[in-house]
Amino acid sequence: MSIRFRGGTTVPTKPKKTGISTPTVDSELFDCAKRACKNSYAPYSRFRVGAAVRAASGKIYTGTNVENIAYPLGTCAEAGAIAAARVAEGGNLVLVDVAVYAEAGDAQHVPCTPCGGCRQRILEFGKNVRVQFFGTDLCCHEVTSGDLLPFSFEFDSKAEQ
Ligand SMILES: [Zn+2]
Repeated sequence: MSIRFRGGTTVPTKPKKTGISTPTVDSELFDCAKRACKNSYAPYSRFRVGAAVRAASGKIYTGTNVENIAYPLGTCAEAGAIAAARVAEGGNLVLVDVAVYAEAGDAQHVPCTPCGGCRQRILEFGKNVRVQFFGTDLCCHEVTSGDLLPFSFEFDSKAEQ
């Protein structure tokens, strides 16, 4: 399987016993995303996802996907992580890094890019957020939030929160 996308880079990495070795990989954030994936609730798709976001404060927040028998009610890992970050940091929240780790039920090495909605969610809290995403082969794919969603929705009337 080969995945191509515009605007980003793909950096092959080799797993080590404690994680991944390429210097550009944010190993701490990756480890948090992978741990979050373990608590995924995905009984319907068996597509487990963990996300970790680092705020400008340096703190890391995690989330996982939570499915529901009423399918549209399911939530993404990134949404959970961003909500946790907002609860903790309030109006000071600025995202600087995001890591997403996914495990497909059929054991394919599927790196999981944030979905369209989550791309918009990430951009809400940072225009130049570094986003790294991984599948079970531990290859690191890196792109910025702006490159993930070049024509994002925005308007000027955002009130201070
Ligand atoms: Zn999403």
